[in-house]
Amino acid sequence: YLVAPIGQLIQSLTQLQVAMAAITRIQEVTALDSEPETHGGPGRAGDRTPVGVRFDGVVFRYGEDRPVVHDRVSFEVAAGGMTALVGPSGAGKSTVFGLIERFYEPQAGTILVGGRDIREWPLGELRAALGYVEQDAPVLAGTFRENLVFGAPEATEEEIARALARTRLDGLVERLPSGLETLVGHRGVLLSGGERQRVAIARALLRRPSLLLLDEATSQLDAVNELRLREVVAEVARETTVLVIAHRLSTVTGADRIIVMEAGGVRASGTHEELVESDDLYRELAATQFLVSS
Ligand code: ATP
Repeated sequence: YLVAPIGQLIQSLTQLQVAMAAITRIQEVTALDSEPETHGGPGRAGDRTPVGVRFDGVVFRYGEDRPVVHDRVSFEVAAGGMTALVGPSGAGKSTVFGLIERFYEPQAGTILVGGRDIREWPLGELRAALGYVEQDAPVLAGTFRENLVFGAPEATEEEIARALARTRLDGLVERLPSGLETLVGHRGVLLSGGERQRVAIARALLRRPSLLLLDEATSQLDAVNELRLREVVAEVARETTVLVIAHRLSTVTGADRIIVMEAGGVRASGTHEELVESDDLYRELAATQFLVSS
């Protein structure tokens, strides 16, 4: 008689523990400070005038622990052109993106976008000026078109065609059975990692960003897709500022400037050729990726 009820009791206790953990997490989230006031809703399109970025003595920590970005980090990203952030895992590259997007506030220092302290930008305007393409960007379930205009519903056919040409997706769309109306994602045509990232870039371009933050796909891309992505990023950098987190140095050897991060600080910066000459860590990274002989 006892075995079954005791079994049920143990099961209920386990469920109760899971529920308690969920309640704690919900309390943590509801206790978070709300984002700074926004003027103008998020998701508005920018005006595509390229803007630069400057970090001036920035220090940032996620919690009470030691700073993740320390050493009073300073660097400059020129308006227009391509700047790359490289460095070992955990160096703080993604944190730099989060700070520019104002997901976090630095404990010290100033971040300027377009010469203006980001605390003075209305948040909606700042976010509208930024395009963000995440690593291994997912494709949304829906049509190819829906994937493109998500975030820019007012995009015209001409703008869509231009974004497709810019990202070298025009040929692919032509080959799809129903063109832009073809279903993609798990219920439709599957796209490769490189294609998915180019769709994400096209989606970001339709929002006319003044600064494109691109976290390069970490998934293995075949040689053709890697070359396409490299060409696309170089072309996009002709019309807006591109700051790219590069996981493969081969994609950024042509960048106007490369910033080498290590353990939360900026260690060196320069062109590929300059860094191969002057920086041991960069030369080592380049050697492990067979770009220079060790
Ligand atoms: P990767 O190339 O692996 O993406 P990264 O250079 O982008 O690395 P970050 O993701 O910026 O590095 O992380 C820098 C440090 O901050 C790491 O030690 C990481 O564990 C820590 N970190 C990142 N995000 C958080 C967070 N939300 N809360 C606490 N610590 C974090």
